[in-house]
Amino acid sequence: MSGIPLAQKDLFCTEGLRTTCSSKILSNFIPPYTATAVMKLESAGSITIGKTNMDEFAMGSSNETSYFGNVHNPWKKGYVPGGSSGGSAAAVAAGIVPAATGTDTGGSIRQPAAHCGITGIKPTYGRVSRWGMIAFASSLDQAGPLARSAEDCAILLNEMSGHDSKDTTSLDIESTDLLHTINQPIKGLKIGIVKEFSLGDLDSEVQNRFEDSKKLYETLGAEFVEISLPNISASVPTYYSIAPAECSSNLSRFDGVRFGHRAENTGDLNDLYIKSRSEGFGDEVKRRILIGTYALSAGYYDAYYKKAQQVRRLIKNDFELAFESIDLIMTPTSPGTAFAFGSKGAQNPIELYLEDLFTISSNLAGLPAISIPHGKVNSMPAGLQLIGNFLREDQILNAAHIFQQNSAFHLDKPSMEEF
Ligand code: GLN
Repeated sequence: MSGIPLAQKDLFCTEGLRTTCSSKILSNFIPPYTATAVMKLESAGSITIGKTNMDEFAMGSSNETSYFGNVHNPWKKGYVPGGSSGGSAAAVAAGIVPAATGTDTGGSIRQPAAHCGITGIKPTYGRVSRWGMIAFASSLDQAGPLARSAEDCAILLNEMSGHDSKDTTSLDIESTDLLHTINQPIKGLKIGIVKEFSLGDLDSEVQNRFEDSKKLYETLGAEFVEISLPNISASVPTYYSIAPAECSSNLSRFDGVRFGHRAENTGDLNDLYIKSRSEGFGDEVKRRILIGTYALSAGYYDAYYKKAQQVRRLIKNDFELAFESIDLIMTPTSPGTAFAFGSKGAQNPIELYLEDLFTISSNLAGLPAISIPHGKVNSMPAGLQLIGNFLREDQILNAAHIFQQNSAFHLDKPSMEEF
């Protein structure tokens, strides 16, 4: 990694360098320490050249909730880059940096990677330390790299991974060299296709790209098996109960006293909290804090948060059972491609929440998943997702690398003429 310039999502604390999480409430926050994942990349010789825009506190799928304004998709001005790691994905796609860091709570590495035509991997929960990452939903958040290829992702992930005693959820496992295990033949690899994801409802071009990729894998020796994940349809509502609940708790620390923005001309302490938080948080963040506080309140906890955790376990069990007979699972990364600013979610936020239909379940189950570019749909990049078994990043990186050795989609770059 010596001398390699990297951009860091502005959710990783960087000592002496402003870290905002794209929120007004942290717009003047300069951390006194650096996140473990960034520190590890820097110890390996890389150079942080800047921080990237994102959805406020990583809540979003379009990078439109940032206090600092929208990020444009390098493939088309006025189109979203995806989110929440939209700035990192756009910076890599535009050729500003060869790679960048992101975080993924429900799809925020994979969906922007798909919309910007690059590769991004969300590792197994616990592989990369969360210390120094500003928390959104602690039981789901995981850091990972965005880069031009699976091989580059393997190089970065090798450096970012590893046990960290400062994060109690960090896995204490022997480190594996993920670069060493790519480029293995995939003959006989068993790939699961999820019966419950009715791909027939998607745009026919999205289906065509998926079928083309399936054929490519078949010619390379992989076998496809239909699998059932019976509880998968509950994954979006389950996520949107758990993530807001955890965010309402995590974001309670932003009170105008210890960090960031503090309202002026306030009365008593309560007034200071209310005004600072009302001024400091954007609408989507406020919506989630309200939903989460409600879901955690006495009397509703059992009906919402506890119930969601129980359903989450069922989803995890479905994956465990499926992985007894397959090596990995293949889905589109996102139901569609990048869309125009303001065209989704303005009237109904659920429209945007459905962007993560295919990505959320692997966060709920803690599994690794990668998105690779696999062609265009209506002249915008489309992503293919490979979900791996627990700690089997080696398998999904290998399958992605073999795909990239036998196709050229990942080499495609935006012309940037409009910019
Ligand atoms: N789009 C999802 C959300 O809005 C996921 C975000 C993420 O992975 N950080 O919560």
